[in-house]
Amino acid sequence: MSFCMFSATHLLGFPKTSRAQTTQKGLIKTKLSPYFTSLEGGEILCELCPRRCRVSKGKRGFCRVRENRDGKYYSLVYGNPCAVHLDPIEKKPFFHLLPGTTSFSLATAGCNLQCKFCQNWEISQASPEDVYSFEISPESMVTKAKEVGARSIAYTYVEPTIFYEYMVDIGLLAKRAGLLNVYHSNGYINPIPLRNLCKVLDAANIDLKGFTETFYHELCDGELSPVLETLKTLKKEKVHLEITNLVIPTKNDDLSVLKEMCLWVKRELGADTPIHFSRFYPLYKLKSLPPTPVSTLEKTRAVALSTGLEYVYIGNIPGHEAENTFCPKCKKMIIQRTGYMIGEIHLKAGKCGYCGKPIPGIWA
Ligand code: SF4
Repeated sequence: MSFCMFSATHLLGFPKTSRAQTTQKGLIKTKLSPYFTSLEGGEILCELCPRRCRVSKGKRGFCRVRENRDGKYYSLVYGNPCAVHLDPIEKKPFFHLLPGTTSFSLATAGCNLQCKFCQNWEISQASPEDVYSFEISPESMVTKAKEVGARSIAYTYVEPTIFYEYMVDIGLLAKRAGLLNVYHSNGYINPIPLRNLCKVLDAANIDLKGFTETFYHELCDGELSPVLETLKTLKKEKVHLEITNLVIPTKNDDLSVLKEMCLWVKRELGADTPIHFSRFYPLYKLKSLPPTPVSTLEKTRAVALSTGLEYVYIGNIPGHEAENTFCPKCKKMIIQRTGYMIGEIHLKAGKCGYCGKPIPGIWA
């Protein structure tokens, strides 16, 4: 999940008189959830994510941004994002999607996991009352994205599933306006809302945080199996898919497990699925661990390539050779990157500019 600096109004280009420029602490904007079942005694069952919270009247679910009001379930973050930025698409990270373009990126408070290594915990582990938010309608979000020259809208920083209604409504308008919709997610969403989301989604980068249930239980308070189902569904629905794995020393850096993960990706999603192995830096609840050694990331990449995966990247080490895209057939470098900067591109109509091999992605 890409790191966000909060409340960058200057990037939005909102006029000084616009209401949207003013942030307000504790702003709540509601919308009825399409995914809940009413139970006896006014309780509800939330059907949006695998956590399936049972919530009594007046209470909220685990993600802190959904509330039972008189037996009906409401999102509290429809139109009140707390982070809005214009980011390079490479930051999401998407390496096979319109390289060198910008993505209008947003998040609200809340999340449906509690990762001990979260980069954005100040907003992901917050309630709407705890953060400063903008008031921005879906229409205004799309208008501003076009005005600042973004080619896509990114739902990111926290788990976008928790602001599902807002995301879908922005997504429908963005699609009509010729913008792509891209989603960086933990993959923790139920199949029906996911399939409906796929109608507006062009691309997804899913955090495959580890490859054991133990890792998900102990470090994220979640489960691995729903994430694997999400990956398979996205593939089936033909959403452009990339994967990110943050390699954390002593927690998920066992090369045999990483190999198993790569073999699963190859078998279930295809050898041409781009995968990003990112460097961990000590933060939040894992401050006592060291940063991931570069050698660990390089060994991980070598293992991934040995399994047959074709596009294997190393992230969070600007200037590393493995930030570049290489053609798996002729081995030439076809997209050059340094951090978020793009250098030479040798692609012609989505094919390697040297040997003509089709390269998966969204290139035009
Ligand atoms: S979306 Fe939120 S309220 Fe609904 S099941 Fe997931 S964590 Fe619980």
